[in-house]
Amino acid sequence: MSNITLTIIKPDAVAKAHTGKIIDHITSAGFKVRAMKMIFLSEREAGAFYDVHRERPFFGDLVRFMTSGPVVPMILEKENAVADFRTLIGATNPANAAEGTIRKLYAESIEANAIHGSDSDENALREAGFFFSELERF
Ligand code: ATP
Ligand code: MG
Repeated sequence: MSNITLTIIKPDAVAKAHTGKIIDHITSAGFKVRAMKMIFLSEREAGAFYDVHRERPFFGDLVRFMTSGPVVPMILEKENAVADFRTLIGATNPANAAEGTIRKLYAESIEANAIHGSDSDENALREAGFFFSELERF
């Protein structure tokens, strides 16, 4: 079992200056930050990251949103990282997110939902490699 997950603080949360509070929330929950950067994704890069959703009706809006401002991807490490992080961030739609979760606290809508979390160990490894080289990981 892998002990890493990949997160992205999304453009809405970065623009509203929630980055620091969200990182504190994550590290206070026991996750260690193993890599972090701030970048402005191109449409091609955002489309490649969410390639699994390319045929979905919301794909165009999703790419537009993810390229609307800078984002903060991070590799996080913790035992049972993928599942525990999905619990920490809450449901995709903040209207359905549990009290105290990052999406309940900071997300606006199902699209502008503040944060990404990998959905499997396999995708966590793929997504970590998408954003970070070996030299950028600690
Ligand atoms: P993420 O992958 O960003 O962590 P998730 O795993 O909770 O989110 P996915 O099903 O992977 O949800 O969808 C990826 C993203 O696409 C969502 O975070 C959301 O921003 C957007 N999205 C998903 N479903 C919809 C929808 N029905 N309408 C609009 N946007 C959507
Ligand atoms: Mg997902």
